[in-house]
Amino acid sequence: MTVPIGLLGGTFDPIHVGHLRTAIQAQEQLGLAEVRLLPNHIPPHRATPDSAPRHRLAMTRLAAAATPGLTVDERELRRTTPSYTVETLIELRRELGSRPLCFIMGMDSLCNLDKWHRWPELLDHAHLVVSHRPGWTPSLNDTLEQLYRRHGTRDRERLHRVPAGHIFLLDNPELEVSSTQIRDGIRAGNNPQYLLPEAVANYIRQQGLYTGSVV
Ligand code: ATP
Repeated sequence: MTVPIGLLGGTFDPIHVGHLRTAIQAQEQLGLAEVRLLPNHIPPHRATPDSAPRHRLAMTRLAAAATPGLTVDERELRRTTPSYTVETLIELRRELGSRPLCFIMGMDSLCNLDKWHRWPELLDHAHLVVSHRPGWTPSLNDTLEQLYRRHGTRDRERLHRVPAGHIFLLDNPELEVSSTQIRDGIRAGNNPQYLLPEAVANYIRQQGLYTGSVV
């Protein structure tokens, strides 16, 4: 049995306490060796203004530096084109051998999982660890309900025994915070203090992010 590694992907535009508490809860509840934050390319269909990858990476690094047990995996941002999660998991699986890998996501992501590229393969390469999020009750459609019935577990030891294949719902307090809400708030002149790490709030202010123009 080897200690699993956690991976939390996101656009992190900006990274906030909802992401960071999720990472910490997963690490503590499952006894993960570390949680790697994986900033994604922003998909082309998302609304602008969004900040440049270098800003999202800088903010993710600042958040990781302020939080024991968190590291940053830069592989998706280092590529010039967007990469699908399944491809990143396949690459990581090659690197990790049979070490368990826990891909962490919010309930909104689980509810939309069957829209992800090659989604049935995700569980071949990682466990899925899901945090509760306000507004997203675990009401899964039939396809995902079946998936959860087949792969869901409440036994954390199982996530240590096999490299991939289980779905585990975290027991976490729901935090009503999103990057959209923070971006909109800053644009409206509101103070984002306590919704994200102080170093990230300072960075946003210094760089003038989310003030209206595309950066
Ligand atoms: P946006 O508002 O720009 O869509 P977001 O706040 O949803 O962004 P993402 O970077 O898209 O943040 O999210 C990355 C991952 O973190 C997703 O799996 C998402 O479900 C999860 N997540 C984001 N916010 C929370 C939260 N408050 N509680 C639990 N999980 C969250």
